[in-house]
Amino acid sequence: MRRNAAELAKMRRAGQVVAEMHEKTREAARPGVTTARVDAVAREVLERRGAASNFLGYHGFPAVICTSPNEMIVHGIPGSYQLEEGDILSIDCGAIVDGYHGDAAFTMAIGEVSAQALRLIEVTERSLWAGIDELVKGHRLHEVGRAVQAVAEGAGYSVVREYVGHAIGTAMHEQPQVPNYWPGTPGPTLKTGMVFAVEPMVNAGGAGTRLLDDGWSVVTADGSLSAHFEHTIAVTEDGPEVFTVP
Ligand code: MG
Ligand code: MG
Repeated sequence: MRRNAAELAKMRRAGQVVAEMHEKTREAARPGVTTARVDAVAREVLERRGAASNFLGYHGFPAVICTSPNEMIVHGIPGSYQLEEGDILSIDCGAIVDGYHGDAAFTMAIGEVSAQALRLIEVTERSLWAGIDELVKGHRLHEVGRAVQAVAEGAGYSVVREYVGHAIGTAMHEQPQVPNYWPGTPGPTLKTGMVFAVEPMVNAGGAGTRLLDDGWSVVTADGSLSAHFEHTIAVTEDGPEVFTVP
């Protein structure tokens, strides 16, 4: 799906709401704070900016962000969990403006964390930007995953297979998917106006995942730490335009 200039302008605005959700939740997430409180901060941004949530009610999801600490990869439900010094926390945020969606995630350190945890965060973010660099007119979509995988595996980590990025527009999750690895067959050729959410999930240990009994929280099968970074990006004549940075 290719978006016209008016649609891209709406997605840019949705992306800016998500960028502010990142800014405010990053400030709020400190030792002793509950993940429910972080969700409340994100809700306040949506309300103040007149944006709707694409997470709340999604297959029954009860919050406007996902909060996934430590070995949790994605889709954690904000609640009574109290953040602790030394945790890492992945925060995934989304917003809808005039029917168009933004979606982006980051992983942060809560207070002082181990050098290993910091390195995982740094490598995962770098893998996202390596993927973003491939979102160029005329390239093939699978080159995104190949670039992400090269960075993550080059650092000795593994890339999650069961959960992937996606095209985005009038729905949060549109086709095609954007795997963070070589998918075995070439992807479509990129054209201007295409918009994708690229979102590497990188595990310090093995790639395996496990779904918890709450039906949402996905953790690493081996209990190793996991990090998650995501942006919403358009393919433009001038190269990739990232909508979800401030
Ligand atoms: Mg997301
Ligand atoms: Mg996404």
